[in-house]
Amino acid sequence: MKTFEFIRPADSAAAIATAAQAKTAQQGADVRFLAGGTTLIDLMKLKVETPALLLDINRLPLDKIETNADGGLKIGATVRNSDLANHPAVERDYAVLSQAILAGASAQLRNMATTAGNLLQRTRCPYYRDTAMPCNKREPGTGCPAITGSNRTLAVLGTSEHCIATNPSDMCVALAALEATIHVEGSKGSRAVPTADFHLLPGNTPHRETVLEPGDLITHVTLPAPVTGSKQVYLKLRDRASYEFALASAAVVITVAGQNVSRARIALGGVGTKPWRSPEAEAALVGQPANEANFRKAAEAAMRDAKPQSHNGFKIELARRCLAHALQMAAR
Ligand SMILES: Cc1cc2nc3c(=O)[nH]c(=O)nc-3n(C[C@H](O)[C@H](O)[C@H](O)COP(=O)(O)OP(=O)(O)OC[C@H]3O[C@@H](n4cnc5c(N)ncnc54)[C@H](O)[C@@H]3O)c2cc1C
Ligand code: SF4
Repeated sequence: MKTFEFIRPADSAAAIATAAQAKTAQQGADVRFLAGGTTLIDLMKLKVETPALLLDINRLPLDKIETNADGGLKIGATVRNSDLANHPAVERDYAVLSQAILAGASAQLRNMATTAGNLLQRTRCPYYRDTAMPCNKREPGTGCPAITGSNRTLAVLGTSEHCIATNPSDMCVALAALEATIHVEGSKGSRAVPTADFHLLPGNTPHRETVLEPGDLITHVTLPAPVTGSKQVYLKLRDRASYEFALASAAVVITVAGQNVSRARIALGGVGTKPWRSPEAEAALVGQPANEANFRKAAEAAMRDAKPQSHNGFKIELARRCLAHALQMAAR
């Protein structure tokens, strides 16, 4: 059995310097940060990830939730999902985020899982998690058996001929609708990445899921100041009521002025290869009366480019209904 080393870096600089020696920050990285471990340790048990060195970042001072000078929120990378979902400012001003996190996993998992770890959780595609099978994401160039195989839970938006894996995160869908920014510190300094640019489409490099480079440590996530009067809903549809990933989900943040939608931010989960912001649905809604017919039109627009596989065509109508219903709940 392959062994690994485990160390606790004294500070962020030491963690970054050590991780920067890795060949990649993506699939197969030989040095990995360890946060809650609920993704990484799982994948190590399955031998899908086999790092030589784990850097435990749990003692770094990255576990605070603070209000920013601009009225927004700063969420540390190691803030636990439970603490974030139940924080009074999140419940009050960013309800869609609280709802999305609480719709995911289980209470025990949320107590361990962290903000950064959630951003970097891996797909639940069954072939990715089975080292006896080929998989372009796990071993580039070996093929994608999901395209002709078991793909009921996989993506219909943003797919390529090399990978159709769904991004499984609920939290990231809410962050997309809230237009969050992800803050990264690396060996070349720090940078801020809008959520929309953080995850990559699979294209012909499905093993590369994010813009992270070796040594890059996510330090925190920021949310813009809350939009006064916005109505927020996260709706998740799945095979069972709890402890299950989304088949389709929708995060909506809308403002209704008079009869009309004056602002809309919409993202979908369970259907995209990355957390799926839908400018098409937003454009279809803004300026229109907030009614069932227009919610349906927005949902049609959101799924216009969807590409079904052999077993997941049902997701297209499911996602439409999910979004239309979420909009109705928000507008109520
Ligand atoms: C049974 C089960 C059910 C689940 N159900 C759901 C669900 O319904 N919805 C949902 O959204 N999620 C679900 N999850 C996933 C869960 O939310 C993630 O496993 C969790 O959020 C990962 O966080 P973590 O802190 O444990 O990450 P870890 O496992 O510690 O890390 C994950 C990855 O992130 C990297 N990393 C961690 N912190 C940083 C950092 N600061 N900078 C750079 N890289 C970093 C690690 O190196 C690793 O590659 C489920 C998980 C399980 C096991
Ligand atoms: S969909 Fe992606 S993760 Fe799943 S088998 Fe194909 S390449 Fe691998």
